[in-house]
Amino acid sequence: MFPDVVIIGGGIVGCSCAYYLSREGVKVHLVERGSIASGTSGACEGNILQWDKQPGIELKLGIASAFLWETLAEELPLDIEYVKKGSILVAENQEGLDSAGQIVKSLQNEGVPCQLATREDLLELEPNLAPDITGGAIFPEDAQVQPMLATIALGQAAKDQGAVIHTFTEVKNIELSPERSVVAVNTTAGRIPTRAIVNAAGVWSNAIGKMVDLDIPVLPRKGHIVVTEPVANIVNCKMMEAGYTQAVESDERGLAIAAVVEHTLSGNILLGSSREFVGFDRSVNPDVIRAIVARALRFFPALKNIHAIRTYAGLRPYTPDHRPIIAEADTVKGFYVATGHEGAGICLGPITGKLIAQMLTGQATDLPIEQLSLSRFDD
Ligand SMILES: Cc1cc2nc3c(=O)[nH]c(=O)nc-3n(C[C@H](O)[C@H](O)[C@H](O)COP(=O)(O)OP(=O)(O)OC[C@H]3O[C@@H](n4cnc5c(N)ncnc54)[C@H](O)[C@@H]3O)c2cc1C
Repeated sequence: MFPDVVIIGGGIVGCSCAYYLSREGVKVHLVERGSIASGTSGACEGNILQWDKQPGIELKLGIASAFLWETLAEELPLDIEYVKKGSILVAENQEGLDSAGQIVKSLQNEGVPCQLATREDLLELEPNLAPDITGGAIFPEDAQVQPMLATIALGQAAKDQGAVIHTFTEVKNIELSPERSVVAVNTTAGRIPTRAIVNAAGVWSNAIGKMVDLDIPVLPRKGHIVVTEPVANIVNCKMMEAGYTQAVESDERGLAIAAVVEHTLSGNILLGSSREFVGFDRSVNPDVIRAIVARALRFFPALKNIHAIRTYAGLRPYTPDHRPIIAEADTVKGFYVATGHEGAGICLGPITGKLIAQMLTGQATDLPIEQLSLSRFDD
């Protein structure tokens, strides 16, 4: 039996699409050239944040997806280490505090619960914070998952609903009809006839797009993470420094570092974050690691007595306007694109999968999707 749709990519986005499509009774095949979560979804953190989203469609996607994660944590067949522990934004000077104030004001206007916090408020929540911070903000709705477990759980649930998952199978090319409709996907394991494709190949989406002469403007934006040995609670919430959004929104090609410190349920602390454009190189750069550690120590001096046990780097799928692409291509019938989530793909995976399922099954979408089109990048 031929599938109704072939999803390319077994990261959080592809597995979310597989989950929501198969839940609608759509016959899905997912093709992944490595194992599930072998791309960026296995080399990241699992923060589900609202405060880092711009008001408008980005924040709407964030709020809708946070709600879906809460439900998925109950529904999925594996424990995904979902915890809604909130996050804090910490400023080390007045400029940072002003920026936190603007974020709080704009989110409160959108009905997101959050508040400005004094230094004393923050030290009460996080007694291990450096005592010389200026203040910041508290976002109680923020949550986290273990991203690899979450991706695997979505893939497993899709399989339980009838999806077929082909791992260690690479898509080599795509066949179109003379009218430019999707006809088949050719893989290292053979030809799969289908009328629809979802390109969920993360930073590799552009290479998949080229197979049908489409330019998908996604670039790899590298990020490093340091993992510490498991320890008793040093960090209660997730902590980000006030300069984080500037690092995300900047399009600078050089290295940007902003402290992110997060305790996981297994006891390891994750230290981030860096952003730089260095192509597809996923090797770990010791200079970047040193810079991340120095920034984390600035905010949590108690970390100096804890050992780092592992480092890794992943590639965020960046788009020039910092919004994902969730759309059917105008010029190739049946070719859907779900990519470009940059540093928010774990957070936005579920809503992306749900919107793609609604588009493919002809339902009204939960959110307006015009601003997520691929054609917005046309000259
Ligand atoms: C350091 C770091 C920290 C991050 N922290 C967070 C965070 O806290 N919260 C958050 O929401 N997001 C975070 N992100 C971003 C998030 O990880 C990404 O947005 C997300 O993982 C992208 O998922 P994806 O499914 O689009 O891509 P991927 O996970 O990369 O999946 C794409 C898949 O496509 C496969 N593929 C490619 N080409 C082919 C082919 N020809 N045939 C078959 N398969 C193919 C690849 O093997 C890959 O597995 C972070 C990222 C990094 C790097």
